[in-house]
Amino acid sequence: MEYTIKPCFLCDAESKQSDTDHDNRSLVTCSNEACGQYEITHSAAISIVSSTFIKGALRKLVNKRHGDYGHFDISRPDKQIKWEWIAKQ
Ligand SMILES: [Zn+2]
Repeated sequence: MEYTIKPCFLCDAESKQSDTDHDNRSLVTCSNEACGQYEITHSAAISIVSSTFIKGALRKLVNKRHGDYGHFDISRPDKQIKWEWIAKQ
């Protein structure tokens, strides 16, 4: 999968990002083990940029699943940040 190197949305460390879901989401693989891998919609990414509190909370959730087979999906339906664990079959 093609990727670009950009700052992680959750911790600003260097991360690999690929566009997924017809460019509506970014699949992020963060070099910081506290984040690991997650997927985030563009609108969710924009809305959490200035919220240190939400970013910290999401980082903890993502980290809890570190090593499990799957990834976190962070989206923003109805202007509320929502997260969901997507297990890989
Ligand atoms: Zn990160």
